[in-house]
Amino acid sequence: MSREAVQELQSLSLWHAVARGRRDRAPLEGRLDVDLAIVGGGFAGLSTALHAAGRGICVAVLEAEIIAWGATGRNAGFVVPNFAKMDPSDIIAHLGPERGERLIDFASGSAELVFDLIKRHKIDCDPVQKGWIQPAHSTAAFEKVKTRAGQWAMRGRPAVTLDRRSVQELTGVRGYVGGWIDRSGGVLDPVAYARGLADAAENAGAHIFEHSRVSVIERGAQGWMLTTPSGSVHAGKVLIATNAYGAELDPVLKRTYFPLRIFQIATAPLPGAIRSRLLPGGQGVGDTRRNLLTFRFDSENRLISGGMHIFGAGADTRMPRAIWRRLATHLELPDIPPLQYAWSGMAAIEPDYLPRLVDLGPGLIAGFACNGRGIAMTTAMGKVLADWAGGKVPGDLPLPITRPWPIPFHGVVRYAPNFMLSWGILRDRLDRAGNPT
Ligand SMILES: Cc1cc2nc3c(=O)[nH]c(=O)nc-3n(C[C@H](O)[C@H](O)[C@H](O)COP(=O)(O)OP(=O)(O)OC[C@H]3O[C@@H](n4cnc5c(N)ncnc54)[C@H](O)[C@@H]3O)c2cc1C
Repeated sequence: MSREAVQELQSLSLWHAVARGRRDRAPLEGRLDVDLAIVGGGFAGLSTALHAAGRGICVAVLEAEIIAWGATGRNAGFVVPNFAKMDPSDIIAHLGPERGERLIDFASGSAELVFDLIKRHKIDCDPVQKGWIQPAHSTAAFEKVKTRAGQWAMRGRPAVTLDRRSVQELTGVRGYVGGWIDRSGGVLDPVAYARGLADAAENAGAHIFEHSRVSVIERGAQGWMLTTPSGSVHAGKVLIATNAYGAELDPVLKRTYFPLRIFQIATAPLPGAIRSRLLPGGQGVGDTRRNLLTFRFDSENRLISGGMHIFGAGADTRMPRAIWRRLATHLELPDIPPLQYAWSGMAAIEPDYLPRLVDLGPGLIAGFACNGRGIAMTTAMGKVLADWAGGKVPGDLPLPITRPWPIPFHGVVRYAPNFMLSWGILRDRLDRAGNPT
């Protein structure tokens, strides 16, 4: 491998390497008084800042590194307006009809919100809103996705069941039994989108500081005080939007979710003839396998995919190759171009895989809307949290709100998603063996 290629493989992510519009922001110096202080400059923090500043709320974002340094700058760029595990009927059974319907409505318009913000603020992030496709890898999975598409369609969503032939025409991949598409979903360049949200928030009056790690959040007589290496922010309300990257800030909060490391790769651009066979419409794909297979193209025709690993040393070198080989096999690409970028990031997975707010005290909330569906959900969560910053009581927000309940035996149980993956890979194989061809 050439020296240049090795450097690309070691970059923070493809998106950080190629995205336009990087603007340095100074660290916080001295004291600042605001209505709302936000810890974390990812989609959650930036969307909240944009929506809150748009309502005239005085807001400051404190980011430990640079904008989009966390999962926001390391994801795959799929905009997915539904839940990772539960369908609408499951959510109503889980949360009850009133809270369930509120959460379903919240997710329903989340992809439209993302693409509308991009248009409204003229964010240059290669958006493609042609749909998100979930192909079914087995007959049983196809039955499930038919129900899923039907439930979202009944709620007025642009959700359509796809037969075997339609999936093959849309994806260019053989072997899927069928699938469904939500036409409001799509793909984008996540770092460029986050930078656009940051610029729009600043234009609306928000203060954004980089290299300003918050070490302490303390309650005083006048509200909250957040301390950074060279300054402090005094605020009536505080949002912790650190997702899986905030472990040092709040040791209790970090025990309320499963931290999951996800790997991503991008190949060198595909030649025209192969490119035109796969995903001619430019949608994003995430199939029904438990060991999820995802793929999309970026604007330069690089093929992008991802995966999780079970355990073992050497994942950094092993995983990118394994994902690349898997793509070559499943997408029938004997001449797949070489790997050009490989990176990884941490995602916070809630025990029920649903977005959630955590109530940490009067005027102090943490927001988690990740679960692998973060672009649409965390953007939508930001709008909701701006309502909270404007005075709405937490119980009236559409997201479930809980006290910080640590997961019992978190030190061991935190590896549950990795353990479940090995069982999932086995079940995927058994499904395939039972499929009609
Ligand atoms: C590899 C990967 C692929 C993914 N793919 C997709 C996808 O295709 N589609 C999708 O919808 N979702 C995807 N997700 C999920 C999505 O990226 C996340 O849900 C989303 O980015 C979370 O945004 P956030 O703002 O909540 O957190 P983050 O983006 O993680 O931001 C947290 C920020 O907090 C900062 N921070 C931490 N501690 C402090 C502190 N003490 N002081 C100040 N700042 C601090 C961090 O530096 C970081 O920038 C993926 C996730 C990963 C990891």
